[in-house]
This record gives sequence, structure tokens and C-alpha cells, in this order.
Amino acid sequence: CGVFGVYNHAEAANLTYLGLYALQHRGQESGGIVSVQDRIFHTTRGQGLVADVFKQRELDALEGDKAIGHVRYSTTGGSANSRNLQPLVVDTADGGLAIAHNGNLVNGTEMRRMLERRGSIFQSTMDTEVIVHLTALSRENTFSDRLVEALKQVQGAYALVAMDENQIIVVRDPHGLRPLVLGKVGEKGIVVSSETCALNLIEAQFWRDVEPGEMVVISPDGIRSYFPFQKQKRSFCVFEYIYFARPDSNLDGINVYNARKAIGAKLAEESPVEADVIIPVPDSGVPSALGFSQASGIPFELGIIRNHYVGRTFIEPQQQIRHFGVKIKLNANPHIFKGKRVVLVDDSVVRGTTSRKIVKMVRAAGAREVHVRISSPPTTNPCFYGIDTPTRQELLASSHTVSEMCSYITADSLCYISLEGLYSALNAKRVDYCDACFSGEYPIPFPNQVGDQQLT
Ligand code: 5GP
Ligand code: SF4
Ligand code: MG
Repeated sequence: CGVFGVYNHAEAANLTYLGLYALQHRGQESGGIVSVQDRIFHTTRGQGLVADVFKQRELDALEGDKAIGHVRYSTTGGSANSRNLQPLVVDTADGGLAIAHNGNLVNGTEMRRMLERRGSIFQSTMDTEVIVHLTALSRENTFSDRLVEALKQVQGAYALVAMDENQIIVVRDPHGLRPLVLGKVGEKGIVVSSETCALNLIEAQFWRDVEPGEMVVISPDGIRSYFPFQKQKRSFCVFEYIYFARPDSNLDGINVYNARKAIGAKLAEESPVEADVIIPVPDSGVPSALGFSQASGIPFELGIIRNHYVGRTFIEPQQQIRHFGVKIKLNANPHIFKGKRVVLVDDSVVRGTTSRKIVKMVRAAGAREVHVRISSPPTTNPCFYGIDTPTRQELLASSHTVSEMCSYITADSLCYISLEGLYSALNAKRVDYCDACFSGEYPIPFPNQVGDQQLT
């Protein structure tokens, strides 16, 4: 998911709309904005892309100089559920409250059962609502203290933007799993965003990252920073660099595009191959393929063209024409492939279905040899912290060796970057990151129910 917020700007909702546009890659299922003006909360949320949810009329109704927004990519709670829209907005004994959340709680189900037994009635199936109920139930005096009390009871990943009638509060979980940055906009405006690319769009100045475990309270009294939680090992999601974040964002001071190029270059060094041409699998494989090409000296070509007009509404055709499959979205240009030894570079293999289809498509386009290079280590484990990986059984790498996977996708060779190579390309220390989907070393333990359900 992506979260965004604007404090103290006359066009708070319009800026939030633009910010969500820049964060659209983090979630395409639904979008929402909540603004507040004179204690009244204004809300627009809907399924689909930002451009579909908000029209001029909706934006005009979002009055106020404070707004928060969210784009959703479902991990918990299911997707095609019109109740699962964010930001969540509720009335509490202490006034209105809105919350937008990126991440996943590992004890969400357990906490929800406990709250339901105590009489709470949930309006959605999202784990985020647990935080809302716990905040509403707290007897602490201030909004920030109530939110702290709530967050001390949950475990997992969260980059949160919360708003009451006076203030915006941003919080990052103690491990810092998901990104969150602060910026400055206009005369006195403050902006918060999942990624820096959204700051660029609205011409906000990057100010700084929110630190793991930090709560920043932005109110008429000024901006205050707190570290109310027990300190934990920093574990930023390394997959943000590999796939999830936009290449024009900087995460923790590292530019994502440069990181991907460096990973591609390292991959070329670790797993070289004699070939005529380097071809990225668009769009996610492009920067690492460029790095691979520059490091190996083998020319880079855009041999696979992506149709950008295939939307979320795309329906797989039935029966006779089913085999067109991936070609609707990606097509190999035969002119580039004829008689060539090809290196295909992609960021990850999840189920393996895309890679298998692409390898076949590239051979049909005339490639003589097809070598696949992947800019992440094999994805052997599911993510419980906010990235929607399928269950362990569905992950090709969880039950197949690299050579078995190579046969499955029908490639001449298949190589992944090593974990060491990945961190050396990022020029980073492994201890500071989460790489559980590649290593199985989960930084936050999860209750057995979650494990039993998803780990079998
Ligand atoms: P596969 O066909 O192996 O299941 O899918 C691999 C492709 O999915 C890769 O091209 C990769 O870019 C993309 N991918 C990897 N992780 C994710 C994810 O979390 N969400 C989406 N939508 N695509 C992903
Ligand atoms: Fe990121 Fe993988 Fe960790 Fe999930 S398990 S937070 S995708 S590194
Ligand atoms: Mg891809």
C-alpha cells in the first residue's frame, strides 16, 4: 500500500490526490482521501485507480487544510470487498479519527478476536481496524498517547498516517519494515509519504526519513518527535529496492534506480554468460538489465514491448484463445530475437508462470538460446509484513531447486543473485534489512495460527 498526508496547506486534498497518483504502483485496488475542516471529516474512497475514484466533484468536497490518503494493495482482508477501504474513519468519545496504514500486523487476527469478545464491532476485515479500535478504547489523555497505547499492543509492520481534527501523527514500526518520509511544501506545509517520488511530483522538499520506531506529531504546537516503543533491530524490507518502490524514489538515502542497476551489474559479475543481447522483462526488469548490460558489455535492447493499456479489468480469455495469455501484456519483437543468444533479466520469479511464458514467447520469436537472470535471490518464503506473496506451496522456489526451476521455465540457464551479492550491490549491511522471503529469517516472530495457515 501507499500512504500520504498533508498538514497545513490550503490545497491539502488536491496535493494528496497528486501524491497518491505518484504512489499508484504501491496499490491499484482502491484509493481514498480524508480531509478535515472545522472538526468535520470529509471522506472519498472507492475501488480502482486514483484517477477513477476521484473526479473534480469529489476533490472539491474534500475541504480543509489537512488531508491523508491511501492506495490499497490487499494483503489481509481480501480485495473485492467494498468495506475494505482506507483511510479508516471513525467517531470516538474523543472526536473523529482517520488512519491510513501500509504494512501487515502479525497478531491482527488474535487482537481482533480479543476485541470482538470485548464487544467491538468491526466494519471491515482489515487488520488496520484493530489499531483504530485499540486507539478508541484507550483512556489516555491525548491522541498521540492513545495511539501509542494501541500500537504497543500490536506486532508487525506499519507505516501509519493518522489524523484527528487538529493534528497529523505519523509512525513507523520499531523495525522500520516499510518506508515513510517527511517533506515540506509551500509556505508552512508538512507532507508525509511512503516514497520520495510523490514529493517530487508536488514540488515538496524532501526533509527526512521517519526513523524506525519514531512517532512524529505535527500539530498547531509544532512538530515533535518521540520514540515511545522498545527499540528493535532495524529490518527495512530489501524487496522495496528490488521490486516494490518506484525507481525514482530514494529509500534511506539510496536511489532505487541506481540500486537496481548495481544489482544487475553484480548479477552479471556473479553469473556471466556468453550472449548477443540483454533484454529486460518490462517494466520491473529494466534497470537491472541495464546494469547487467553495462557490466558485461553485451548490448541492451528493448526486445519485449509492454502494452500499457492493459488495465486491472483485464480478463483472461477463455478456451480457444486462452494461449494468447501473456502476449496481450508483453510481446517479443522478432526483429530483435532472430538467431540470437539472449539474456532475459527480471526482478523475481514468484509462481514461475510469467517466466515460463516469456521464455517460450522469446524462443518463438527466433531466439537461439535463452538465459534467465533474476535480480533477487530465489523467493522461497511468503511475506507477512505487507507484500502480497502467495502461500509457500505456490512459490516455485520453495519446492524446486534452481536447476528444476530452469527446466520448468524451459530456459537454457537460470541464475539468481546471491544474498551476499545483493547487499554488496546495495553497499549495505545485511543485519539492517529484512530478507525473510529469500532467507526464511523473519525479523518479527508471528503467532502459530498465521504460520499454520500460510506456511504449510
Ligand atoms: P510469476 O509469474 O513468477 O508468478 O511472477 C513473476 C513476476 O511478478 C515478475 O515479473 C515480478 O516483477 C512480478 N512480481 C514480483 N512480486 C510481485 C508482487 O508482489 N506483486 C505483483 N503484482 N507482481 C510481482
Ligand atoms: Fe520485504 Fe521480503 Fe521481508 Fe516481506 S519478507 S518485508 S517482501 S524482505
Ligand atoms: Mg515484472
